[in-house]
Amino acid sequence: MSTVEADVEVPDIPVPENNDLELTAARNAVVGDLTVRRMLPLRLRRSVGAWCFVDHYGPTDTDGAAGMRVPPHPHIGLQTVTWLLRGNVVHRDSLGSEQLIRPGQLNLMTSGRGIAHAEESLTQTTPLTRPRPAASDPVLHGVQLWVALPDTSRHGSPAFEHHSTLPQTMLDGFAVTAFMGELAGANSPATTFTPILGAELAARRHASHAVPLNPDFEHVIFVAEGRAEVNDVSLEPGHLLYLPAGRSQSQVSAAEGTTLFLLGGVPLAEKLLMWWNFVARTAQEIATARAAWQTGEFGPVGGYRGDPLQAPPLDPARLRPPAR
Ligand code: MN
Repeated sequence: MSTVEADVEVPDIPVPENNDLELTAARNAVVGDLTVRRMLPLRLRRSVGAWCFVDHYGPTDTDGAAGMRVPPHPHIGLQTVTWLLRGNVVHRDSLGSEQLIRPGQLNLMTSGRGIAHAEESLTQTTPLTRPRPAASDPVLHGVQLWVALPDTSRHGSPAFEHHSTLPQTMLDGFAVTAFMGELAGANSPATTFTPILGAELAARRHASHAVPLNPDFEHVIFVAEGRAEVNDVSLEPGHLLYLPAGRSQSQVSAAEGTTLFLLGGVPLAEKLLMWWNFVARTAQEIATARAAWQTGEFGPVGGYRGDPLQAPPLDPARLRPPAR
């Protein structure tokens, strides 16, 4: 995971007239052996609520391939949200966690002042201290999301939590799973630090519904699989639709088999400075965190076979204050 190329300009895609929404296209980024669709950060929109990083990857066949293989690397100032549509991924971190995740489950890592972790697709040779599942899905499909921690919480202790089941509700034909915050009465138990929403909407049949929104939140919505119409805008994978705050609903229509993600939150009042895997406020914090990683101060990630990631060279020009 790297955000050193986050300044790439992405053109807006025109949306129908009389529409205050913004539609942008993902850019491709390479994470290990995976090519991902990176939708946030945008040059002119560094965050949506506290969501500051949105990657969508797959579906990709991992049979005989490495799949996801992200060596140990550090984080500060954020939560990582791992959510799968298909496949099996093993998380390990410097707290000693080892957690296999399946679709419909949440891995939530809160870095606080600092943590290191590794993530990899489960293969027949992946070391596991716990019993190995009888079968693993050879297709990998998921999202990797970051949530910025507010200034009052970002120096706290690191933590990891796994939620094996999450609350679901139906909105017409949409099976709604809230993995962060609350949507339509489904309330996630996941730890949050700002008013926030992260939800999956899976169309079990052709579905059309006015999805309720918190008008205090700005939102983005994207399609991971299938096609959808959101407020008269057609969406396919790789499109990110931004909905400004002030809306109490959004009309979402989708064919059977479509999966969408709805992310939102109260617009951040704080300016984030993101570099590589760090979310900070000042260039000095970034330089300190980089040096701490290079000298081993984040601690080892046990169980991962392979070398940790090296931090890229620090280019001060990259650390200018963000536009937002
Ligand atoms: Mn990471």
